[in-house]
Amino acid sequence: KLGNETLKAELGRAAWKVLHTTMARFPDKPTQEESDALKSYLYLFARLYPCGECAEHFQQILKKYPPQTSSRSSAAAWACFVHNLVNERKGKPIFDCANIGDFYDCGCADDAKEAMA
Ligand code: FAD
Repeated sequence: KLGNETLKAELGRAAWKVLHTTMARFPDKPTQEESDALKSYLYLFARLYPCGECAEHFQQILKKYPPQTSSRSSAAAWACFVHNLVNERKGKPIFDCANIGDFYDCGCADDAKEAMA
Protein backbone atom coordinates (compact mmCIF):
# COMPACT_ATOMS: atom_id res chain seq x y z
CA LYS A 1 0.00 0.00 0.00
CA LEU A 2 1.23 3.49 -0.87
CA GLY A 3 1.01 5.44 2.35
CA ASN A 4 1.43 8.87 0.78
CA GLU A 5 -1.78 10.58 -0.45
CA THR A 6 0.06 12.63 -3.08
CA LEU A 7 1.60 9.55 -4.66
CA LYS A 8 -1.72 7.70 -4.47
CA ALA A 9 -3.48 10.56 -6.28
CA GLU A 10 -0.74 10.73 -8.93
CA LEU A 11 -0.98 7.01 -9.52
CA GLY A 12 -4.76 7.31 -9.75
CA ARG A 13 -4.65 10.10 -12.35
CA ALA A 14 -2.16 8.16 -14.47
CA ALA A 15 -4.17 4.94 -14.20
CA TRP A 16 -7.50 6.56 -15.07
CA LYS A 17 -5.85 8.25 -18.05
CA VAL A 18 -4.62 4.92 -19.38
CA LEU A 19 -7.98 3.29 -18.71
CA HIS A 20 -10.15 5.94 -20.39
CA THR A 21 -7.74 6.31 -23.32
CA THR A 22 -7.82 2.54 -23.81
CA MET A 23 -11.62 2.73 -24.06
CA ALA A 24 -11.47 5.66 -26.49
CA ARG A 25 -9.25 3.52 -28.79
CA PHE A 26 -11.22 0.29 -28.42
CA PRO A 27 -12.94 -0.84 -31.65
CA ASP A 28 -16.51 0.27 -32.36
CA LYS A 29 -17.27 -3.28 -33.41
CA PRO A 30 -14.83 -5.53 -31.54
CA THR A 31 -14.43 -9.22 -32.28
CA GLN A 32 -15.36 -11.64 -29.50
CA GLU A 33 -11.65 -12.08 -28.86
CA GLU A 34 -11.14 -8.30 -28.49
CA SER A 35 -14.09 -8.02 -26.11
CA ASP A 36 -12.75 -10.92 -24.04
CA ALA A 37 -9.26 -9.37 -23.99
CA LEU A 38 -10.57 -6.07 -22.65
CA LYS A 39 -12.63 -7.86 -20.03
CA SER A 40 -9.60 -9.88 -18.86
CA TYR A 41 -7.47 -6.74 -18.87
CA LEU A 42 -9.95 -4.97 -16.58
CA TYR A 43 -10.21 -7.84 -14.10
CA LEU A 44 -6.40 -8.12 -13.98
CA PHE A 45 -6.06 -4.34 -13.69
CA ALA A 46 -8.43 -4.42 -10.70
CA ARG A 47 -6.53 -7.30 -9.15
CA LEU A 48 -3.00 -5.97 -9.70
CA TYR A 49 -3.63 -2.25 -9.13
CA PRO A 50 -0.73 -1.22 -6.86
CA CYS A 51 -2.80 0.59 -4.19
CA GLY A 52 -4.19 -2.29 -2.15
CA GLU A 53 -7.27 -0.60 -0.67
CA CYS A 54 -8.13 0.84 -4.11
CA ALA A 55 -7.75 -2.58 -5.75
CA GLU A 56 -9.99 -4.17 -3.17
CA HIS A 57 -12.66 -1.53 -3.57
CA PHE A 58 -12.44 -1.61 -7.38
CA GLN A 59 -12.87 -5.41 -7.40
CA GLN A 60 -16.11 -4.95 -5.44
CA ILE A 61 -17.27 -2.46 -8.06
CA LEU A 62 -16.49 -4.95 -10.85
CA LYS A 63 -18.46 -7.63 -9.06
CA LYS A 64 -21.50 -5.38 -8.93
CA TYR A 65 -20.99 -3.77 -12.35
CA PRO A 66 -19.26 -6.24 -14.72
CA PRO A 67 -17.21 -4.58 -17.49
CA GLN A 68 -19.16 -3.72 -20.66
CA THR A 69 -16.94 -4.56 -23.61
CA SER A 70 -19.28 -5.09 -26.55
CA SER A 71 -18.35 -1.76 -28.21
CA ARG A 72 -16.23 1.36 -27.77
CA SER A 73 -19.17 3.43 -26.57
CA SER A 74 -20.35 0.88 -24.02
CA ALA A 75 -16.79 0.38 -22.72
CA ALA A 76 -16.22 4.15 -22.45
CA ALA A 77 -19.58 4.65 -20.70
CA TRP A 78 -18.85 1.82 -18.29
CA ALA A 79 -15.40 3.23 -17.38
CA CYS A 80 -16.86 6.70 -16.88
CA PHE A 81 -19.57 5.23 -14.65
CA VAL A 82 -17.18 3.26 -12.43
CA HIS A 83 -14.78 6.22 -12.18
CA ASN A 84 -17.77 8.25 -10.96
CA LEU A 85 -18.43 5.64 -8.28
CA VAL A 86 -14.87 6.18 -7.04
CA ASN A 87 -15.37 9.98 -7.31
CA GLU A 88 -18.53 9.70 -5.28
CA ARG A 89 -16.81 7.67 -2.58
CA LYS A 90 -14.02 10.25 -2.38
CA GLY A 91 -16.44 13.21 -2.37
CA LYS A 92 -15.15 14.40 -5.75
CA PRO A 93 -17.24 16.06 -8.48
CA ILE A 94 -19.18 13.75 -10.79
CA PHE A 95 -17.95 13.81 -14.40
CA ASP A 96 -20.58 14.26 -17.11
CA CYS A 97 -20.20 11.07 -19.15
CA ALA A 98 -21.98 12.67 -22.12
CA ASN A 99 -18.79 14.73 -22.60
CA ILE A 100 -16.41 11.80 -22.78
CA GLY A 101 -16.41 11.66 -26.61
CA ASP A 102 -13.23 13.56 -27.53
CA PHE A 103 -11.84 14.04 -24.04
CA TYR A 104 -9.35 11.18 -24.20
CA ASP A 105 -7.00 11.40 -27.18
CA CYS A 106 -3.86 9.28 -27.19
CA GLY A 107 -2.10 11.50 -29.74
CA CYS A 108 -1.37 8.39 -31.76
CA ALA A 109 -3.65 9.26 -34.71
CA ASP A 110 -3.87 6.30 -37.02
CA ASP A 111 -1.24 3.72 -36.08
CA ALA A 112 -1.43 1.96 -39.44
CA LYS A 113 -0.81 5.18 -41.39
CA GLU A 114 2.07 6.14 -39.10
CA ALA A 115 3.68 2.75 -39.62
CA MET A 116 3.63 3.27 -43.41
CA ALA A 117 4.93 6.87 -43.25
P1 FAD B 1 -9.01 11.60 -10.89
O1 FAD B 1 -10.19 10.95 -10.24
O2 FAD B 1 -7.71 10.88 -10.85
O3 FAD B 1 -9.41 11.91 -12.40
C1 FAD B 1 -8.46 12.44 -13.31
C2 FAD B 1 -9.20 13.26 -14.35
O4 FAD B 1 -10.09 12.40 -15.05
C3 FAD B 1 -10.09 14.34 -13.78
O5 FAD B 1 -9.36 15.50 -13.54
C4 FAD B 1 -11.12 14.51 -14.86
O6 FAD B 1 -10.62 15.33 -15.91
C5 FAD B 1 -11.27 13.12 -15.41
N1 FAD B 1 -12.41 12.40 -14.85
C6 FAD B 1 -12.98 12.52 -13.63
N2 FAD B 1 -14.01 11.68 -13.50
C7 FAD B 1 -14.11 11.01 -14.66
C8 FAD B 1 -14.99 10.02 -15.14
N3 FAD B 1 -15.99 9.53 -14.40
N4 FAD B 1 -14.81 9.55 -16.40
C9 FAD B 1 -13.81 10.03 -17.15
N5 FAD B 1 -12.96 10.97 -16.77
C10 FAD B 1 -13.10 11.47 -15.53
N6 FAD B 1 -8.13 6.72 -4.27
C11 FAD B 1 -8.45 6.54 -2.96
O7 FAD B 1 -8.10 7.38 -2.14
N7 FAD B 1 -9.20 5.46 -2.56
C12 FAD B 1 -9.60 4.50 -3.45
O8 FAD B 1 -10.26 3.53 -3.07
C13 FAD B 1 -9.25 4.65 -4.82
N8 FAD B 1 -9.58 3.70 -5.73
C14 FAD B 1 -9.13 3.83 -7.01
C15 FAD B 1 -9.40 2.82 -7.93
C16 FAD B 1 -8.91 2.87 -9.22
C17 FAD B 1 -9.18 1.75 -10.18
C18 FAD B 1 -8.15 4.00 -9.63
C19 FAD B 1 -7.61 4.06 -11.03
C20 FAD B 1 -7.88 5.01 -8.73
C21 FAD B 1 -8.36 4.95 -7.42
N9 FAD B 1 -8.11 5.96 -6.50
C22 FAD B 1 -8.49 5.80 -5.20
C23 FAD B 1 -7.48 7.23 -6.92
C24 FAD B 1 -8.55 8.28 -7.18
O9 FAD B 1 -9.59 7.78 -8.01
C25 FAD B 1 -8.00 9.53 -7.91
O10 FAD B 1 -7.28 9.13 -9.06
C26 FAD B 1 -7.11 10.39 -7.06
O11 FAD B 1 -7.75 10.70 -5.84
C27 FAD B 1 -6.77 11.70 -7.79
O12 FAD B 1 -7.98 12.38 -8.06
P2 FAD B 1 -8.14 13.60 -9.03
O13 FAD B 1 -9.12 14.54 -8.38
O14 FAD B 1 -6.83 14.18 -9.42
O15 FAD B 1 -8.87 13.07 -10.34
